[in-house]
Amino acid sequence: MSIQSILQTVFGYASFRGPQHDIIEHVTSGGDALVLMPTGGGKSLCYQIPAIARQQAGQGVTLVISPLIALMHDQVGALHEAGVSAAFLNSSLSMQEAAATERQLVQGHTTLMYAAPERINTPRFLAQLDSLYERGQLSLFAIDEAHCVSQWGHDFRPEYRALTVLHERYPQVPRIALTATADALTRADIIERLQLQEARLFISSFDRPNIRYTIVEKRDATQQLLRFIRHEHLGDAGVVYCQSRKRVEEIASLLCDEGIAALPYHAGLDTRLRQANQDQFLRTEGVVMVATIAFGMGIDKPDVRFVAHLDMPKNIEGYYQETGRAGRDGQAADAWMCYGLQDVVNQRRMIDESPAGEEFKQGLRGKLEALLGLAEATDCRRVRLLRYFDEDSQPCGNCDNCLHPPEVWDATDAARKLLSTIYRVQQMSGFGFGTGHVMDILRGKTTDKITQYGHTSVSTFGIGAAIGAVAVDAQAFNTLKLTEASRAVLKGEVPVRLRVSLAAPAERKSRRTAVKVAAKAPLALDSAGQHRFTALKAWRTEVAKEHNLPAYVIFHDATLAAIAQSAPQSLEDLQGISGIGARKLEAYVWAGGIERDQPWLSFFGG
Ligand code: ADP
Ligand code: ZN
Repeated sequence: MSIQSILQTVFGYASFRGPQHDIIEHVTSGGDALVLMPTGGGKSLCYQIPAIARQQAGQGVTLVISPLIALMHDQVGALHEAGVSAAFLNSSLSMQEAAATERQLVQGHTTLMYAAPERINTPRFLAQLDSLYERGQLSLFAIDEAHCVSQWGHDFRPEYRALTVLHERYPQVPRIALTATADALTRADIIERLQLQEARLFISSFDRPNIRYTIVEKRDATQQLLRFIRHEHLGDAGVVYCQSRKRVEEIASLLCDEGIAALPYHAGLDTRLRQANQDQFLRTEGVVMVATIAFGMGIDKPDVRFVAHLDMPKNIEGYYQETGRAGRDGQAADAWMCYGLQDVVNQRRMIDESPAGEEFKQGLRGKLEALLGLAEATDCRRVRLLRYFDEDSQPCGNCDNCLHPPEVWDATDAARKLLSTIYRVQQMSGFGFGTGHVMDILRGKTTDKITQYGHTSVSTFGIGAAIGAVAVDAQAFNTLKLTEASRAVLKGEVPVRLRVSLAAPAERKSRRTAVKVAAKAPLALDSAGQHRFTALKAWRTEVAKEHNLPAYVIFHDATLAAIAQSAPQSLEDLQGISGIGARKLEAYVWAGGIERDQPWLSFFGG
């Protein structure tokens, strides 16, 4: 089958997304690839379709390396639903199960074999791969979450270092490595560690147009969060990220008290409880996961409608990775963050107190500053985010600053005061001072000085970051120094505009319809359509339970909504709907529906 017909018949999708076609073509014909694509971009198909095409061409098994043991079951289950032969080998299997899976593997019948990286080091597994290789039945290596090989990535896994053995031992087998981590340092590290110098590099746009970015100043964080969820996302699945385990517990129970289905997740919880909470988040609709950053990698739940940050993350990479978990299905989703100066102070202290080397710490401080710059920005958030990843774009019309341009005030005077203070303390003493000291001078022990400017809470620290006129001098104990940009500001050539800090939280009217019903469709449905959608969801819940899989693995909401809307009269009508491949059509509609007279089929023809 051609890659296009695999896309249509197996996965039920009409067309490739972005660079998928080129990547899949390249890998199917035996090329190596490094794929950088944002979360939700559609990385899985980039190795699944080549795996199917190459197996059909008699080239054997694709080995997928994934660090996510807890999710392999669902990933393989999703492939089974699409009629693809797949299996996984990890520590969760019994001896007998593992032995049966290994027999299948050695026979070369499996199309996709998922394994954790530590397995690659076992002589037993290598012997099985040797045997496949000798018979020309080892088709492709897919290395998922490839940034785990790098210390610069946020999820370093030492076991990933051992993956070099694959290329050394099986040089003829093509490789595709995939990650959603964009930064240049990590990318270079992946290439070197995995010896992918010859691989073709595919970098997608990192834009996630369906995600709306909103960053608000922290007042009463929990109340702000509650308002956000109540007004915008009642009944939706979401993730709330907090800084500490303690805070996770507090917020989860607070949300529960307020009638919102919330669960905690952090590394301090018992493994079984953590797994149970994760399963519930994946399998039950409308659960809010309150978590530390320990949660999220590899979670492929497509219908997460919001990601909220109650505390500021460490850097833009982390923020983007975490917010990227919203809206994988391409439907509207929110990334909401609440930040305060205290967050910055805390993060800075953590950096200062860490045992890392000074140069490394300096890098961390720079990254934190960039995130603060984003938070204080008065222009398009998306333009700034993408620029951070070296991508140029135009104001997006789908972030808080584009939708509700913030009130700004002319901060030129204040900025000049800040800059000349930095300049003067340096003149006076012959050396610079750190941020804290300069802030103290500027703010006084009270906030008189700020009142003097006529603004209740101006973050002077933010001024420097926002205009880029202040740099931190790494050579001189992190003191502040002036930059090229400061000259222009000091001379009054460049005006500085900053966002007005509101004294009270702005009560913004909900931008979507008032209270939402539990089963919200991603399409505007009439009442009969809505009724069909609700019934289809109930049917899906049953099937998912029966198959021990999350509901979205059976059909996405968007697919159900499309069925509900078009109320197909025949199988042909149904075939055109996105997300219904040949296997699902047969399993659910033909055998399961028409023949067994499933209730949901009564929608056909009324
Ligand atoms: P990633 O691994 O890059 O985060 P996934 O592979 O999980 O993304 O894909 C995200 C979602 O997009 C999945 O639900 C997938 O089914 C869907 N998807 C991927 N490619 C296509 C396509 N060509 N057409 C329609 N939907 C797609
Ligand atoms: Zn914007």
